[in-house]
Amino acid sequence: MRKLEEIGRKERIRVGILGATGSVGQRFVTLLAEHPWFEITALTASDRSAGKRYSEATTWVQASPLPTRIAEMTLLPSAPPLDCPLVFSALDAAVAGEVEEAFARAGHLVVSNAGSHRMDPEVPLLVPEVNPDHLELARKQRFGSGAIVTNPNCSTIGVVLALKPLLDAFGLSRVHVVTMQAISGAGFPGVSSFEIVDNVIPYIQGEEEKIERESRKILGSLHNRRVKEAELAVSAQCNRVPVLDGHTACISVGLQRAAQPAQLQEAWERFSSLPQELALPTAPAKPVHYLHDEKAPQPRLHRELERGMAVAIGRLRPCSLLDFKFVALSHNTIRGAAGGALLAAELAVAKGLLDEVEARSGATA
Ligand code: NAP
Repeated sequence: MRKLEEIGRKERIRVGILGATGSVGQRFVTLLAEHPWFEITALTASDRSAGKRYSEATTWVQASPLPTRIAEMTLLPSAPPLDCPLVFSALDAAVAGEVEEAFARAGHLVVSNAGSHRMDPEVPLLVPEVNPDHLELARKQRFGSGAIVTNPNCSTIGVVLALKPLLDAFGLSRVHVVTMQAISGAGFPGVSSFEIVDNVIPYIQGEEEKIERESRKILGSLHNRRVKEAELAVSAQCNRVPVLDGHTACISVGLQRAAQPAQLQEAWERFSSLPQELALPTAPAKPVHYLHDEKAPQPRLHRELERGMAVAIGRLRPCSLLDFKFVALSHNTIRGAAGGALLAAELAVAKGLLDEVEARSGATA
């Protein structure tokens, strides 16, 4: 793993979490608690929570204990400036757009999980192993001295990590996805037990459109500071299921060049990218694992693969409508949210974007 000194820093980088009390905010807390490069120095939430101690305002739903130092911190309002150059946003979608822009204009590098800026042509929609070059977009944006980088929707991340090795090796023409999504994806407290126990809900607002649009941007190519979206037909159907964490996607693909099943498995297994090359702290050793057990992947058994940062794929077989079908599983609040954002921030640090933002804004450095 790349050490702090190797990124030219003597001390850990101060970071804030916007929307720290929610489902994704809590994941940020757990993942950042022991982070080798980053140190949490500010936590924010809504005005309902600001001024309270973190432990008082938060219903802690993580399996690991809440670190004492964090429990004692006082929540701040979600307004700039904060005494840290880098902020992670886990804000409610209704307010994220405006608040994140205000933080960027105040000179912060914002790495966001919210949907507001994802399709903005000036903003990278980053999955660090899939489109690391898109980070370049963030070097010149309209948000004053700061910058905004976004993380895709939680299901989209698993889907594009499964698709990218196939796109590179064989080309892709059509993709059909049916998801079975965990309840933690709906935030906290999220879906009521009365709605979800003994049930499947075949509707998640805006989710199908997000998978269809975001995957084309992520898999697209960068030309003259614009992303040319991938020419790929994507159709998605999304379901909420009574699983705590881990989104499962049944995916069918049409390839541009004929391939044997073993070649697809090999493409997934050997897939590696810039985060692995740079040895970023949150990068999984292998972003994609192919599991040969006919009952794999399953959320309860495989969502923690490589600390929740790897995608588990299985059940590859021929498809009578398209060419092949398979199942992909990813952890929605780790790889699909906080862990993915952390990896994006590590890439931004390693590629000098945070240094640039700090040099431009001075005051927050
Ligand atoms: P959540 O559990 O509902 O948490 C929302 C957070 O936003 C809380 O900290 C809340 O603070 C804060 N907040 C609410 N209204 C606010 C306001 N008016 N001003 C400032 N802060 C406010 O949501 P979540 O599931 O963690 O999701 C957070 C974001 O990540 C959303 O934009 C979501 O779409 C996105 N996302 C979620 C997932 C997932 O798997 N859950 C995955 C990818 C992306 P209080 O506690 O004070 O209300």
